[in-house]
Amino acid sequence: MTEHASTLTAEVKGERGMKEYVSTLMADVKAKNPAEPEFHQAVQEVAESLALVLDRHPEYRHARILERIIEPERVIMFRVPWQDDQGNVRINRGFRIEMNSAIGPYKGGLRFHPSVNLGILKFLAFEQVFKNALTTLPMGGGKGGSDFDPKGKSDNEVMRFCQSFMTELFRHIGPDTDVPAGDIGVGGREIGYLFGQYKRLRNEFTGVLTGKGLNWGGSLIRPEATGYGCVYFAQEMLGTRNETLQGKACLVSGSGNVAQYTVEKLLDLGAKPVTLSDSGGFIYDEAGIDREKLSFVMDLKNVRRGRIKEYADKYKRVVYTELNGKLDHNPLWNQKAHCAFPSATQNEIGGKDADNLLRNGVYVVGEGANMPSTIDAVNRFLDARILYGPGKAANAGGVATSGLEMSQNSMRLSWTREEVDNRLHLIMKSIHRACHETAQRFGTAGNYVNGANIAGFLKVADAMMDQGLV
Ligand code: NAP
Repeated sequence: MTEHASTLTAEVKGERGMKEYVSTLMADVKAKNPAEPEFHQAVQEVAESLALVLDRHPEYRHARILERIIEPERVIMFRVPWQDDQGNVRINRGFRIEMNSAIGPYKGGLRFHPSVNLGILKFLAFEQVFKNALTTLPMGGGKGGSDFDPKGKSDNEVMRFCQSFMTELFRHIGPDTDVPAGDIGVGGREIGYLFGQYKRLRNEFTGVLTGKGLNWGGSLIRPEATGYGCVYFAQEMLGTRNETLQGKACLVSGSGNVAQYTVEKLLDLGAKPVTLSDSGGFIYDEAGIDREKLSFVMDLKNVRRGRIKEYADKYKRVVYTELNGKLDHNPLWNQKAHCAFPSATQNEIGGKDADNLLRNGVYVVGEGANMPSTIDAVNRFLDARILYGPGKAANAGGVATSGLEMSQNSMRLSWTREEVDNRLHLIMKSIHRACHETAQRFGTAGNYVNGANIAGFLKVADAMMDQGLV
């Protein structure tokens, strides 16, 4: 932070002053964190929302709370050497970003995907701080992962990679320090190998990871939680207009953990999911993805590890469209529907996609993925005053249920499926209420982006004020 920025921090007031504050802050963030566009994007969105609260509460500005939240408490970057099945030596890069521990141990997933880099993990860790605060549970924010690609690797290769990754990570994490979970490319198989190596190195059986197997400390409903939670959140948003999901046509992207359980809960609530995708393309099934087709997808993706194209080979009257990177839009978002649940990855909905969604009648967007909409797309949704649930709030059910897994581990007992699902449902209702009421309180009723950013910030900011300059 430059000296100029630090003076501004204390002095600016009013709308013009806050605009200047945000633009100076962003210039500093960009200068200090070059080549991290996703991190800049995430900070910009939050800073714009927080202008409302920082203007009313100069004490947060004086204490430089936002500037402190932007700076990770700790970044760990390490070499992960491993051997493939042919005996070749491979090298990947591992990361853990310990972003903020004001309200609890660092908590957030591990992502294994070739696109992983420092900037992407910093954006995810930054968002996680606000999301975890919204869950009502005591969890700080973190994120980690590697540029390792599990796709096409044998189980043995994945195991050797996970063991090498944990051989460094284990010294930085612990059940009261930092508790990682899964994310893209890290599911039950990977969590198992990571946990096994942690246990071996530490000689202790503790709840150091969440998303564990059911018979070794995992929680019922954790695999379902992000997708279920996202649909519960959409249901709450619709409730503000006295509507339900019954009979609504829904576009879902991705076909991994979040997408699968989004489809399952949509079916429970009488909606009609019509699309799924992977990095190769998407399927459009006008008749609707029913339970039998969903179980085909689960077997295809979780057991056989195949491509979504096979859905169109198996079922009649299904259209498969291959991904075309040259287009300025994604045709998945150009279908007639009422709701959209982006559940694949960041920035999968651009400005043109948002226009297409609105033109096709979509008026509910529940973000299962993290930051799937660009700033352009978000602004179009907000201008159109649709029910737009940002990822920080809408997909918080996953980490919330991880928090419930931590509680069960600490108490050394397991709750029933109904008990965990009820708690998840209550938490999603409470997150929705917090976002809705906070947006209203700050004069932007219906704007869940402001609601989520401000409500999450206030909880973390107050804890940081209480704990002094650390
Ligand atoms: P996953 O099980 O690995 O599934 C990811 C899905 O998205 C796959 O279908 C994948 O297709 C597709 N995908 C990934 N990167 C893509 C890209 N660059 N272009 C097109 N498609 C892509 O991961 P997940 O756990 O469902 O996570 C999905 C999103 O939800 C992520 O943004 C994640 O951060 C977010 N999220 C997850 C959780 C959780 O509890 N798991 C919680 C909160 C938020 P391929 O298989 O072809 O790569």
